[in-house]
Amino acid sequence: MRDVVTAYIGIGANLGDAAAQVRAALQWLDELPQTRRIAASGLWRSAPVDADGPHYCNAVAAVSTRLSAPALLQALHALEARAGRERPYRNAPRTLDLDLLLYGSARIQSPRLIVPHPRMEQRAFVLMPLAQIAPERVTISALQAVAGQDVEPMAPPV
Ligand code: ADP
Ligand code: MG
Repeated sequence: MRDVVTAYIGIGANLGDAAAQVRAALQWLDELPQTRRIAASGLWRSAPVDADGPHYCNAVAAVSTRLSAPALLQALHALEARAGRERPYRNAPRTLDLDLLLYGSARIQSPRLIVPHPRMEQRAFVLMPLAQIAPERVTISALQAVAGQDVEPMAPPV
């Protein structure tokens, strides 16, 4: 059987009741096959980056999984669909966005999946919640580089 891997999932929503959607996604992650949620950050509020629309609610979760990275990404896309996500255009507002940030220490470069997530280092709305649950995976210099971004805590970890 495949080894258990700790993976980190970035969660974002900015349509409808975004906080409720992020909380629902945190529950759904715990229900994926061969997967258990082992940690959840607090909720954060961030201004849209390279996009317009309402502010985002963001969080990061850690899961312990036996799914392969592509299978996990596919499962995340199924959860986005469950939330009613549509993709009318690039960076459109979304009911739910689930990104695979880290998959153990794997480095993956395929047409459909790049891990570590290629833009995570530039995004305070990823690094701040990630630092709450996995400070060893976030460097001080990375946090300093995004310190000016419009991101604020909304609710503490539960
Ligand atoms: P966004 O960049 O805003 O999250 P999407 O959620 O629409 O945009 O993702 C676009 C594509 O990015 C997906 O179809 C997926 O195949 C690809 N992708 C590549 N690497 C990753 C990753 N680590 N996590 C999530 N999606 C990824
Ligand atoms: Mg995405």
